[in-house]
Formats: sequence, structure tokens, C-alpha cells
Amino acid sequence: MPTRVAIHSSVGRIFPPERLQSLLSAFDVDVTDDVDGYDGVVSFGHEPEFLEAGVEWIHVVRAGYDEFPLDALRERGIRLTNSNGIHGDSVGETALGFMLQFARRLHRYRSNQTEGIWDPPAWDETFTLDGESVCVVGLGTLGLGIARRADALGMDVTGVRRTPTPVEHVAEVYTSDRLRAAISDARFVALTVPLTDATAGLVGAEELDAMREDAYLVNVARGGVVDQSALVDALDSGSIAGAGLDVFEEEPLPSDSPLWEMENVVVTPHAAAATVDYADRIAALVEENIRRREAGESLTNLVV
Ligand code: NAD
Repeated sequence: MPTRVAIHSSVGRIFPPERLQSLLSAFDVDVTDDVDGYDGVVSFGHEPEFLEAGVEWIHVVRAGYDEFPLDALRERGIRLTNSNGIHGDSVGETALGFMLQFARRLHRYRSNQTEGIWDPPAWDETFTLDGESVCVVGLGTLGLGIARRADALGMDVTGVRRTPTPVEHVAEVYTSDRLRAAISDARFVALTVPLTDATAGLVGAEELDAMREDAYLVNVARGGVVDQSALVDALDSGSIAGAGLDVFEEEPLPSDSPLWEMENVVVTPHAAAATVDYADRIAALVEENIRRREAGESLTNLVV
């Protein structure tokens, strides 16, 4: 029996659902939120009806799956696959973009431009990434995407992972229990871990305090990995120099958040991974898993 797949309209938060449908036109695929009678569903996130609809397989179009009820899925024998592995280049470029903006002060010039202000930097306000250091916390797809690019720009790259196995492009690997030591010397700290019980609030007041006063935090992981009010305090008091933030405790970032007003903060709307070929990348993953399902093989990117 061919696999019937529903594309949930929620994927429209990233790309038009019809785009994915046309890329998968060789298969039995519909754009619908009524997933009853389908074998699989492709979705942006979890919907309660997925648990009762009889679907056997959910594919989430993001790498993070922290809001999925994994135990409930296991109990019902529903398999969850994610989109891990496709975001290294897009998020890697966004993270380097944050760093380049701060180093070259581009964010300030762009803000000044809206007012027609010509304001060259003080002699000691800009620097080059070449020769600067970055500590990448979490060395999976995103972490490696950042490490490879940072290394290519001449940065000194260190990283944090759960086991101290050497990683290409990373000169020194610290284990998670040495997080504070790892981040204390770096000009940039880039967060690329999933949000789990172990990483919730991983960067709080003490870690921010351990960072250099001229250091920048880059968060392209999940908002919950950082204690956001501690971050606001650290930015306010100047105990760190700035932050490039793509993810927040609450999204969209509420309009009264002090982060909007801070000159040394660049806010992006959870868009670090956005790229015109996102749907193509998802189509390749879904197609591979349709093939595997029909061949009776285990699915790729299997979460549960
Ligand atoms: P990944 O699974 O390839 O890599 C995550 C890495 O973090 C793994 O190597 C894992 O071992 C490591 N890790 C887990 N817990 C750790 C800990 N306590 N200390 C150190 N390392 C730890 O996933 P990925 O594709 O790199 O994505 C990582 C996360 O980033 C996702 O879970 C998602 O939440 C987020 N993400 C955000 C965007 C965005 O648009 N901003 C895009 C993709 C992913």
C-alpha cells in the first residue's frame, strides 16, 4: 500500500504547504489539517489530534521537537522523525552574520541610517573576527556549521559537548560539566544545544557573569536554554557586550521586552534557518522516509 501523507497547514509558517506537495507529487500527498486516514503527517509542531487520528508517523519540519509529547507518542506506537541535519549552513551563516555585525559594527550603522546619521566608530570600537575566539556550545549540525565557518574566517574555535571526543574545526573540546571554564575566555559564545531538561536555563546569571565583559552571546538554539531575565540584566549592566538572539523564552518576543530597545542586541524572528530551498530539504527527508517505510526499513532522523 502506498504511504498516504498529510501536509499540515502549520508548515506554512516556514514555506507554502503546496510547495512541498508539488515537490512530493510522485507520492500520495495532500495538504490538509484533517489527518484521519493518513499514514503520516508533516507538521511544523505538535497538534493534539495527531494522537487520536491513527497516523503512524509524524515528521516535524524543524530540528527541535521539545514540545512533542514523546511518552504519549511511544505509548501509541507513533513514530516521530525530525529535520535534523539540514540547518548547518543557514544557521551557520546567520550566526557568523551576528558575529560579523558586532565586530564590524554594521548593526549600528544600519540603525543610524534610518535617521540619516553619519557616525564613524571610535578608534577602538571595531575589530576583526580573524584572531578572535568563539566557544560553540553543542557540537551537532548547527555547532559544526558555525565551527567550520568560524575556523575559515581565522577564529580560534573551542566547543562544548557531552563527551570530549575531538571535533574537526574545533581546537579544544570541553565537556558539559566545564561549561563555565569553556565560555570564560571566549569573545563569542554560540549556543547550539537542543532544549532538554539538562539544557533548560543552561546559561544563567553565573554563566553570564563568567563571560568576558567584551563578550557577545549568540543564541540560535532555543530561548529556554538561556535565563532571559538574567541576560537582560547582564546586557543592562554591561557585564557582557551584546547579544545576537534568534530565539526567545516567549515567541514572538513581546513588544514590551527590553531586548527590543537595546543598542547592543540584534533580534531576529526565529529565522536563522530560513532559506528559499527549505521545502526542498524537507521533501528529500520525507521522500527518503516514505521509501524506507514502504521497504520496511527503519526511518531516518527517528526521534521515537
Ligand atoms: P543536533 O542534534 O545535530 O545537535 C545538537 C547537539 O547538542 C548534539 O551533538 C548533542 O549531543 C548536543 N548536546 C545535547 N545536550 C548537550 C549538553 N547538555 N551539552 C553539550 N552538548 C549537548 O541538532 P542541531 O540541528 O544542531 O540543532 C540543535 C538545536 O538548535 C535544535 O534542537 C533546535 O532546538 C535548535 N535549532 C534552531 C534553529 C533556528 O531556526 N534558530 C534551527 C535548527 C535548530
